[in-house]
Amino acid sequence: MKIINRELLVIGGGPAGLAAAVGAYEEGIRDILILERDIEAGGILNQCIHNGFGLHTFKEELTGPEYAGRYIDKVNGLGIEIKTNSMVIDLKPVENDENKDSYGNLATVVSRSEGMYQIKAKAVILAMGCRERPRGALNIPGFRPAGVFSAGTAQRLVNIEGRNVGKDVVILGSGDIGLIMARRMSLEGARVHCVLELMPYSGGLKRNIVQCLEDYSIPLHLSHTVIDVKGKERVTSIVAAQVDENLQPIPGTEKEYKCDTLLLSVGLIPENEVSLSAGIEISPITNGPVVDEAMETSCRGVFACGNVLHVHDLVDYVSDEADVAGRKAAAFIRSQGEEVNTKEHARHIETLGAVRYVVPQEIHSDNLDDEQIFRFRVSKPMGRSKIVVSIGDKTVMSKNKMIMAPGEMENITFKKKWLEGTGADDKISISAFEIDKEFVI
Ligand SMILES: Cc1cc2nc3c(=O)[nH]c(=O)nc-3n(C[C@H](O)[C@H](O)[C@H](O)COP(=O)(O)OP(=O)(O)OC[C@H]3O[C@@H](n4cnc5c(N)ncnc54)[C@H](O)[C@@H]3O)c2cc1C
Repeated sequence: MKIINRELLVIGGGPAGLAAAVGAYEEGIRDILILERDIEAGGILNQCIHNGFGLHTFKEELTGPEYAGRYIDKVNGLGIEIKTNSMVIDLKPVENDENKDSYGNLATVVSRSEGMYQIKAKAVILAMGCRERPRGALNIPGFRPAGVFSAGTAQRLVNIEGRNVGKDVVILGSGDIGLIMARRMSLEGARVHCVLELMPYSGGLKRNIVQCLEDYSIPLHLSHTVIDVKGKERVTSIVAAQVDENLQPIPGTEKEYKCDTLLLSVGLIPENEVSLSAGIEISPITNGPVVDEAMETSCRGVFACGNVLHVHDLVDYVSDEADVAGRKAAAFIRSQGEEVNTKEHARHIETLGAVRYVVPQEIHSDNLDDEQIFRFRVSKPMGRSKIVVSIGDKTVMSKNKMIMAPGEMENITFKKKWLEGTGADDKISISAFEIDKEFVI
């Protein structure tokens, strides 16, 4: 099989891959290749034609394609090569290769125009995004008629392919895609009966609940699920029911909605296949790779960013994180792999209280920049709360928040100087706990 050598291979041409490539270029790397399996770069943003993107990065409200377009223009302007219709199907560290010092990872690619070939890269950035959890993962009883779509598929059909997916719609799941599609379907002239949410709180951003449901008078029924899908050829109705604290349907609360379409917005899962093929350690909580301060995975020279690492709600944070991954991958290449980490000295970040996960999950004290961003989510809606960072028994930071919710990603800036005077074995922890429930939304 044909083998090509490249300094940096970026897998995925969405916002994460594009920003990572720009970051690496700005750190002096010129031999960069972005591989994108779709027909064009831009990732999921190409189908997000609503506005609300880029408020942090560009201080403007852009649509998804506009935001992606800015990065595509940057990448093209810098002369960074993007190959579309090119899918990476396998990634392996090159352990015993005679070139191992300079080209550490071997990716297998399939392409419509070039067939199957391999790329040896000094560093690789994983930026493959995530995919939607399908109906099969939910065990909803009932028939399998036409008219059941994942919300993202419906978004693509409506916004890119100009199709009409249905006229009478129920949406299961109140994550951001479900909320955005409730509004989109209303704008398309469909009747959206309601959004049903299994949990007692929404998984989406507060601003999307207001702008996509309340502004369109679409009811949100928390602690509800779909217990039956009726119809043989096409959906004719669905049956919803309230659930108890164990998320089990409560008999007697059933309600039937006549509809021709059920949209599912029930979670996103990082695209893990390539990461798994490389033997990368995956976090059981984020379902993405475990990374350190450089966004480097457990596989040397392989970095990760964006939704493949953990699911983001704002693309601006994806771009910031990807910029770090690109710059750190560049440093790795410049040091010819000598660098950055001796993995054995990693310090794990402990999560306490309501902190469900944190990224990065570990740091190497010597390699930290003066400031390190940690991003995390809480496991439940919280009223007035405290976020505390501790090293050993010393509290190094504490800040109050009015509200926190699982749908909204939090971040804190960790300062390297906090480590001064602490022992290498002192545990670093991030915790969040409620001090006043009164303000829960
Ligand atoms: C419906 C929806 C609405 C959203 N609304 C907003 C919003 O209003 N505001 C906001 O800020 N953010 C929003 N977001 C979030 C934002 O769009 C994402 O956080 C962002 O797109 C993630 O970027 P990414 O590059 O990690 O992933 P993606 O955009 O998914 O890009 C990943 C790319 O990798 C490619 N790829 C995957 N596997 C391979 C492979 N093996 N080989 C080659 N290529 C591969 C994919 O084809 C894709 O192009 C929304 C997201 C969704 C899904």
